[in-house]
Amino acid sequence: MSEYEELKKYLEKNKKEIKKEIKEIVQIDSPTYPALGTNKVIDYFSKKFKLFEIQSKRLKGTKGTGDHLLVTIKGKQKNKSKILLIGHCDTVFPLQTSDKRPFKIKGKTAFGPGVADMKSSLITCIHVIKFIQEKYLEKVGEIQILFNSDEERGNPSSRTIIEKLAKNTSAGLIIEPARANGSIVSARKGSVIGKLEVNGIAAHSGVEPEKGASAIYEITKKIAEILKLKVKNGNINVTGLMGGDRPNIVAEKAECLIELRASEQSTLNKTTERIKKIVAKKPFVPKTKSTYKIIGQRPAMEFNQKTNVLLKITEKIYEKARMRFSHTSTGGGSDGNYLSAMGVPVLDGLGPIGGSLHTDLEYLQLESIPRRGAVLGTLIIQLSSCSEIK
Ligand SMILES: [Zn+2]
Repeated sequence: MSEYEELKKYLEKNKKEIKKEIKEIVQIDSPTYPALGTNKVIDYFSKKFKLFEIQSKRLKGTKGTGDHLLVTIKGKQKNKSKILLIGHCDTVFPLQTSDKRPFKIKGKTAFGPGVADMKSSLITCIHVIKFIQEKYLEKVGEIQILFNSDEERGNPSSRTIIEKLAKNTSAGLIIEPARANGSIVSARKGSVIGKLEVNGIAAHSGVEPEKGASAIYEITKKIAEILKLKVKNGNINVTGLMGGDRPNIVAEKAECLIELRASEQSTLNKTTERIKKIVAKKPFVPKTKSTYKIIGQRPAMEFNQKTNVLLKITEKIYEKARMRFSHTSTGGGSDGNYLSAMGVPVLDGLGPIGGSLHTDLEYLQLESIPRRGAVLGTLIIQLSSCSEIK
């Protein structure tokens, strides 16, 4: 029996337990903040790994996030490639969501906060790892697994951990859910989020409007110019526009957020410079002053030659399993962006299949778990002996 078949059989055999565990952790609400919920999820997995006799190390969260969990499996082969798996314990849903909207199964579909993004991925992952530890240790080298607590907020705490691990990694596998059509993710856009602030001069709008300088007029002019920028394989979204106060006062302050996304890092860099130039230009409304500050960014996970090597191996696994293979790029970011920016080839979307992520309709296709888990495990084993990625 092939590794894929063996793994799939094992996951099918344990599907009751897997379902029970998914329910258990979906019922632990774990927004990024406060750290309470994610710490409970980390507690849960610390215990599981101990039970599986797999070593794990708890890494203290910083900047108000929960802790992270780093697991290391030392395979018996010293010269094999080093594989890093990353998943996240946080969800976008606030505390108490699971009281209002508890885990439930309807036919072949499961629902609940974070059921697909990505609590079922985490459970699938630990069973795949357990199986490799028990049966395939002689075929792999070092495997590390990072469960972080802050991905949904752009990794304020775990980014440095990911970048450090990247230095010792041959290939990265991210267990975000697969797309609704089963596609895995081979590229992700990067993003730059900036805040534009305009300071003007307040004045009575009826008595002496000429003494004022409208921050709102200026910011709308700047926004119009910024939105005209052409972004190759990307786009700009302006939001969070605020300014002024009372109708009889010329607006003294205005601000907005500018989110830029693009597939290539060079486009992100170039467009950011263009935005800065527009902001620094002579104001349209005299005596106003504009500033632009970057408040968050995620590098692009670019498709490259090494990604292709990973894809070829994955495609063969699919072929052998008689499954339809497809991969795609997406606009959303993940842990994979940071890993990829460090020069590590990355495949993403390797979790079970789900959809309507980040909404009340989020769902998971329960039947996809054995298949997807078997692909993930086979990929770990085969990449371990791939010399092209070392
Ligand atoms: Zn996610």
